[in-house]
Amino acid sequence: MQIERTRWANRWMSGLVVAAATAAVVACATSPTGRNQLRLISDAQLTEMGVQAFTEMKQELPVTQSAATRRYVECVTNNILPFIPGRTDWEVQTFESDQVNAFALPGGKIGVYTGLLKVAKTQDQLAAVIGHEIAHVIAGHSGARVSNQIATQLGVSVLSAATGVGGDLIGAGANMLLVLPNSRRDESESDILGMRYMAEAGFNPAAAVQLWQNMAAAAGGRSPAEFTSTHPSHDTRIRDLNAELANSMPLYERARRAGRTPNCRR
Ligand SMILES: [Zn+2]
Repeated sequence: MQIERTRWANRWMSGLVVAAATAAVVACATSPTGRNQLRLISDAQLTEMGVQAFTEMKQELPVTQSAATRRYVECVTNNILPFIPGRTDWEVQTFESDQVNAFALPGGKIGVYTGLLKVAKTQDQLAAVIGHEIAHVIAGHSGARVSNQIATQLGVSVLSAATGVGGDLIGAGANMLLVLPNSRRDESESDILGMRYMAEAGFNPAAAVQLWQNMAAAAGGRSPAEFTSTHPSHDTRIRDLNAELANSMPLYERARRAGRTPNCRR
């Protein structure tokens, strides 16, 4: 999902000018499904950007006053985290906002808007969203997105020499993490990975299909504001998720047999 805040779209440009004076470490990374990604920034810098972006979010939006809602979102998240590769110390916050939105950031930060809970109506549907958002981070989409934007804005050649970036890039990147849309391929990859994570945690992966049916219904035939034109259509997404169920249902059934039966209630 994507946060639309246009005033930030301009703010990072000033940071990029500073970034132009420095040089970026150029590297390529490979996503879990084998795609090559441009990497102009290190994991440490990406973490810093994510943490800064999350701090800005907390300054802008109130965390919900409902302890029950916070506990519910934490419960779903905590059930998924053991099945996420890498770090285990993710922080999740539930923000009070009518927007149907959620996000995850490098540095292990997750945000869920209370508006999402009107569309992600069950623990399994919420798990589908959280798994999807975390997958964007695990698959390196955030880093690739910021790197591609830097390359585009600066005309940085992949072959250019590089020695590190200044602090202003962190602020610019933090804003980019929050405003740049994911590509369709990123969305599809996160749908698949997110479905695996939730299934391994014992959440029913069929709920991912229901979630997008709810999204389509909530959108009333339009793409909701949160979703840019780069997102797959609801129909395509639902079809692809249905196909992926063949791979995720066995993971889910195995998880249930192993006693992984999450029970998160609002
Ligand atoms: Zn997404």
